[in-house]
Amino acid sequence: MNRAEFIGCILGTPIFVQMIQQNPTSEILMGRGSPDLVGESYSLTRAAATAFEQMKAQALQDGISLEVVSSYRSFADQLRIWNRKYEKFKQEGLQGKAIIDAITEYSTLPGTSRHHWGTEVDLIDAAPPKEGDVLLTEKFYAGGPYEKLRLWLEENAHAFGFIKPYTSDPNRKGFAYEPWHYSYAPESIPFLKAFLKIPLEKFGSHAELRGQQHLSLNYLQTYLNDYVLGIAEELR
Ligand SMILES: [Zn+2]
Repeated sequence: MNRAEFIGCILGTPIFVQMIQQNPTSEILMGRGSPDLVGESYSLTRAAATAFEQMKAQALQDGISLEVVSSYRSFADQLRIWNRKYEKFKQEGLQGKAIIDAITEYSTLPGTSRHHWGTEVDLIDAAPPKEGDVLLTEKFYAGGPYEKLRLWLEENAHAFGFIKPYTSDPNRKGFAYEPWHYSYAPESIPFLKAFLKIPLEKFGSHAELRGQQHLSLNYLQTYLNDYVLGIAEELR
C-alpha cells in the first residue's frame, strides 16, 4: 500500500492518513543517490504522485489542467542552477555576498532544495499559451494566465495534502513568495525533520560550487533559520 493511503471522502473532501514510513537517507534528502520516484510528466515519490493525480483529476473537473513545470531536482540540477545564476549576477556587476543574496531570492543552495525530496511541484495551467518565463508572480494575479489556477489551488490544494511553503506573508523570511510551488505535506513535514539533522558542514563545500568562500558556517546557520525554515507554519 502507498505510504499515504487514500481512504475516502467526507463531504467531497479527500482524507489522507499519514502512514509510518522510513525517512530517506540524508544523501537522498540532499538530492544524491537514487530515490524511489514515479511519474512520466514529473518525478515524485509514490505517495506525492498518487495525491497529485487525485488533485489533477479534481482540477480538470473544475476546468483547470494542472501542469508540472518542475518536481524532483537532483543535487547536480541545483548545482547547475546555482552556478548559472552566480555567473549571471557576477557579470551584472554584483560582488561577494550580494551575489549570494541575489541567487537566494528564488534559488536554493544545492543540497538544501525541497525539490530534492520528490514532494514538491511547481504548477501552471497547461491551457493558456506559454510566453517566456512562466513562473512569474504577476502571471498568477490580476488577469494573468494563471490567476484562475492560483485561486483554485488556494481553495483546494490543502484537501489533497498540498501546501504552499513560500507564502505571501510579509513576516516570512527567506525565499520570495512563490504562488506556483506546492509541497506534499504528509511526506515533506517528516522529511524536513530528518533534513534538519544533517550537519551544516555538509553544505556549501562542493568542489564545483561557485561562491563558496561566502558560505561560512555562520552564514549557513542564518540560511537554515531564514531560508530553509522560512516556510509556512503548517509545514514546519
Ligand atoms: Zn519550486
